Amino acid sequence: MRRLLLNLKNDIQMNNLIQMPEAGQAGNGAKPFVGFSCRVLSWLLHHANREGRNEYFYKIKNRLLSKFGNFIGYDVQFIEGKKCHSCNGSGVYHGYGWDGDYYDYCYRCHNGWYKRPVWNILQRVQFGKYIFHQPYQRAYTKPEISTPIIEGYIDHNRSKHGKFALTVLFLLYEKGYIKRWYKSAGIGWKSYWWQPRNWLYNIVHIIKHGRNSIPFNDTRRQMKSIMSKYKPVKQVSYESDDLPF
Ligand SMILES: [Zn+2]
Repeated sequence: MRRLLLNLKNDIQMNNLIQMPEAGQAGNGAKPFVGFSCRVLSWLLHHANREGRNEYFYKIKNRLLSKFGNFIGYDVQFIEGKKCHSCNGSGVYHGYGWDGDYYDYCYRCHNGWYKRPVWNILQRVQFGKYIFHQPYQRAYTKPEISTPIIEGYIDHNRSKHGKFALTVLFLLYEKGYIKRWYKSAGIGWKSYWWQPRNWLYNIVHIIKHGRNSIPFNDTRRQMKSIMSKYKPVKQVSYESDDLPF
């Protein structure tokens, strides 16, 4: 597996060396990156994009897209604002003082907006056969752009390959990923322990917690409850004059 990943990485770098030089074609100057590595890498990014929402992933996404992606245009995404509750969206604070009412700017909002409506200008970037969106600019007035505006957040349906793709990208591109994974793994015990995808996680749990790990604890508890069944029932004490003989 590891060798396969390394080969893939080398392949990508080679490809890159061969294909990078003649600049000035696409928006970012890179020549289209094609071939097997491109297909694999863009597939991975596409599926991981549906899964990952963390800084580590975004770092990798930015890096890959700025290197291999082709800028093909803009999309604008509109996010509705939220009106301020304390001033009812007026932006004016109505106060009551000892010498009468007074008015001031509402200090909880911006002109009546708790969250201002925002237009996110996104760059549409093509990598392989997939389209990605990269944030470019944020505007608080409607930008003059002819493309249709995307209302609300862009949906990313999760794909069943998401986790796998994300892991491979992390292994390829994040230094220290294994350390980060190890830190977060094995905190609890995955109860479906017979499923292969939980094995590694549970092994780490046992390594980390040793005798206090959940399965050991459980067996200890079970042993105790079994042993307690064999304990003699509470001893009966006889009064001396009760004795039947
Ligand atoms: Zn307000």
